[in-house]
Amino acid sequence: MTMPLTCLNYINGEWLSAHTEATLESRNPADWQELVATCPRSGAQEVEAAVAAAQRAFASWRLVPAPARAELIYRIGELLRQRKEELAQLMSREMGKPLTEARGDVQEGIDCAFYSAGEGRRLFGQTTPSEMPNKFAMSVRVPVGVCALITPWNFPVAIPCWKAFPALVCGNTLVLKPAEDTPACATLLVEILQEAGLPAGVINLVHGLGEEAGRALVEHPDVALVSFTGSSETGAEVGAVCGRSYKRVCLELGGKNAQVVMEDADLELALEGALWGAFGTTGQRCTATSRLILHRAIKDEFTRRLLERARRLRLGPGTEPETEIGPLVNAAQLQRVSGYMDVAYGEGARVLLGGERVSEGKLKQGYFFAPTILDEVKPDMRVAQEEIFGPVVSLLTVDSFEEAIQVLNGTPYGLSSSVYTQDINRAFQAMRDIEAGITYINGPTIGAEVHLPFGGVKQTGNGHREVGSAALDVFTEWKTVYVDFSGRLQRAQIDNRQE
Ligand code: NAD
Repeated sequence: MTMPLTCLNYINGEWLSAHTEATLESRNPADWQELVATCPRSGAQEVEAAVAAAQRAFASWRLVPAPARAELIYRIGELLRQRKEELAQLMSREMGKPLTEARGDVQEGIDCAFYSAGEGRRLFGQTTPSEMPNKFAMSVRVPVGVCALITPWNFPVAIPCWKAFPALVCGNTLVLKPAEDTPACATLLVEILQEAGLPAGVINLVHGLGEEAGRALVEHPDVALVSFTGSSETGAEVGAVCGRSYKRVCLELGGKNAQVVMEDADLELALEGALWGAFGTTGQRCTATSRLILHRAIKDEFTRRLLERARRLRLGPGTEPETEIGPLVNAAQLQRVSGYMDVAYGEGARVLLGGERVSEGKLKQGYFFAPTILDEVKPDMRVAQEEIFGPVVSLLTVDSFEEAIQVLNGTPYGLSSSVYTQDINRAFQAMRDIEAGITYINGPTIGAEVHLPFGGVKQTGNGHREVGSAALDVFTEWKTVYVDFSGRLQRAQIDNRQE
């Protein structure tokens, strides 16, 4: 066993413990005997110091030319590339995802670094003719100030990178409060940012509980923006606090994503997509496929093949190369997913596969849950409406394309969606009529690319998008500038007009 890491806060360029001795533990979810790391259980005092450091650093960081800020982001991308394997191994131990997926998580961070760095030479504004002679009109992007980044454990490197790199290139300074379950990944990431040469105070890291450090950060008056990814319940609270204090807030929340399989679909392709979408990352992705909406004509055949393939998925510790499905992240998640099995039975759903914890042999000290397929699920059942966040997929049967879209849209969430069909007309109808931030045609509900906007509608968010050029709208304010070089007072034409 590897020695546990002692993670510290990073404030104003220094690694510090909290003012209390209290710590939080991060344990390997595949073997809870293994302590991966400890971190400080910080509170308002550490948040205060981190925000003050970020506030001071903002005064100079915002004046560093954007292409120079971008140079540092490029360097971060290079360092992430060099340390990809180290980060992936740590991630796999700390939150359980298989190594191949952990490498993909880090790769998203790398891609995001290079994409965001490119913005250093763009950050485009607008120039436009003025209504008046000898007057110049333009709009430019300016940084917002101190940004609080609050992140979940399921993409412990990619999500902090998605937020941090666009925010930094835009000239903001940051306080990161990572999830309690993944302090070690966050610490290694911030070490890399430090090594790349970010000035003191530009990035700060405060570990702790959401209710304590997280809440203090959201409530802090000098935090100008909160970028939050997590559950819809917490997001609603964070949004309410920000609303009362006029803070900018970007919420990326839960999902109840569905894959539709029509009767004309390439069934083998749809099957591959369903397996990956439902069981990849043990179903712990905000974009995971938790509903399969199947046309009645292919329902039985598709279900038979799905069962046969899902039964063969290999559970194990993420660090072992043959593992396809890792553990759930912690005991609370195991309890939550198990609890939904009672809900499913109570509602009259039929468990075709799984439905229980797996604890044989080397899995006995881990939070493993069998890939689970629920049949005879009706659209209004809780298992078809609520986010389960585990390796559980519900089968719903429909008789038409119109019904499929109606069922797909019939939840409070709107993150990702997928339709498998060979009919081009249906594909375009789906793109038009699905209420979701992301729609895949003939691809699974998971698989975001960092240069395209990411996020959702309804209770999945509040209208913002992560990554791509859309992230710039989160992390900058527009400033409109008029330059009058006429040498006289020119009133806007509307005030001058002689009818
Ligand atoms: P969570 O809401 O429990 O926690 C997310 C973060 O918020 C953690 O860092 C936590 O410490 C912090 N937090 C908790 N209470 C807080 C409070 N009162 N004030 C401030 N911060 C607080 O979510 P989780 O269990 O870590 O993550 C899983 C959820 O995240 C799922 O619902 C999933 O769908 C969602 N998610 C969404 C996206 C997306 O982009 N839409 C991506 C990944 C995960």
